[in-house]
Amino acid sequence: MQTEKVDVLVIGAGPSGTVAASIINKAGYSVKIVEKLKFPRFVIGESLLPRCMDALTEAGFVDAISAKGFQQKSGAKFVKQGKICDFTFAEQFTPGWQWTWQVTRADFDKTLADTVEQMGVPVEYETTVTNIVFNGSDSTTTVEDIHGNRKQIEARFIVDGSGYGRVIPKLFNLEKESVLQPRKALFAHTNDVRRSMADEPNRITAVVHDKGVWIWIIPFSTGVTSVGFVGDHTFHDKFTGSQEEMFRAMLASEPYTAERFKDVELVFEPRKLEAWSATTDKFYGEGFVLTGNVTEFLDPIFSSGVTLATVSAQTAAKLVIRKLQGENIDWEKEYMEPTMQGVNVFRSYVMAWYEGTLDTIFFSNNPDPLVKAQICSVLAGYVWDQSNPYVQLHATELKRLARKIELTEKLNAGSN
Ligand code: FAD
Repeated sequence: MQTEKVDVLVIGAGPSGTVAASIINKAGYSVKIVEKLKFPRFVIGESLLPRCMDALTEAGFVDAISAKGFQQKSGAKFVKQGKICDFTFAEQFTPGWQWTWQVTRADFDKTLADTVEQMGVPVEYETTVTNIVFNGSDSTTTVEDIHGNRKQIEARFIVDGSGYGRVIPKLFNLEKESVLQPRKALFAHTNDVRRSMADEPNRITAVVHDKGVWIWIIPFSTGVTSVGFVGDHTFHDKFTGSQEEMFRAMLASEPYTAERFKDVELVFEPRKLEAWSATTDKFYGEGFVLTGNVTEFLDPIFSSGVTLATVSAQTAAKLVIRKLQGENIDWEKEYMEPTMQGVNVFRSYVMAWYEGTLDTIFFSNNPDPLVKAQICSVLAGYVWDQSNPYVQLHATELKRLARKIELTEKLNAGSN
């Protein structure tokens, strides 16, 4: 069997794999990406957060992405029965990026992969990792192309950015169940002729449909808008027929989407995804590090996926460089802890969203501007800023605030 040698093998050419590959390549190490599919390929995850711009900048991708003319995103809007809670990233508490993009991921991911290739990192498409053998931190990976040809790649280190493929957790039995309840999404791209240019398209809108059910509306610069319904099986089971019939019935079941998307033309047959939350015990091992979705993927509600993917890749890449330079790395402290910090903050917000705690906060009558700015920073992805009480005390502070709001609103209602 043919054998190749590289310093670092990266599995997957998604945002996480390409960010890691670019940063390691810039440090002068030989890097290769193997990618199972041919690009452009469809993947969901279209609304980015400002915090990922730091990682994309360090990877050297921002100019190439800018040239694509993707829709700029400068906030996030939550809507419930006519009430609106609008967050503008320019008003956030933590200093940082105030905007990002809404992207069709097929184009976005191809841009990143082409850019990293131009930087000198070969990307081998339609090549699937089928086995890995570690010998200390050195490894031999077997890959197979679509014609069934196999070869081996020897590497000093592996970055697993295989997303939903979860290559290393599956090969080495590291899978762990998520604590989040399984949910489903049915979504499509629509030719959005009734888009309001006044309050859109520069933000994602999340419409609260019913308890535990919400709709994403993500406008792109092309006039196409992504629309998706997320809920547990009790919501999805109410709808029958083809994917398109179910999707159109869902659109008709909510007053705002019924009006805006009536008879809308669909760009593709609606797609379904389910039970996406997944995690593993440990995000590193001798000779490898897991990045992006392979570490933990929570839920789409706060668009955290690509941000956690690129930030974990950015952190991991710098540690891999130091490791290759001969340093002893405390992966627990320098990688696992910061990565879990981001995941844990977002997990608290995801749970608070589905429990209704965030409804109480977002749709309260008199929101406190400072609290709103602090929560806005979390929604912008700045989940490592310990000076923000809604980051530092994420597990308790949202519940405490919601109780206070409920009490105040009850008292005010009583005195009127
Ligand atoms: P990916 O983008 O999945 O890339 C991994 C790559 O690895 C793939 O190209 C795959 O083909 C390749 N691969 C897999 N197995 C192998 C193998 N054996 N060998 C070689 N290559 C392999 N995130 C957001 O930021 N914003 C959103 O609005 C958002 N919405 C979402 C909606 C839903 C319904 C869901 C389920 C997720 C959403 N996400 C969102 C999350 C987002 O999809 C992911 O977090 C993001 O794509 C992770 O990037 P990644 O680079 O880790 O993995």
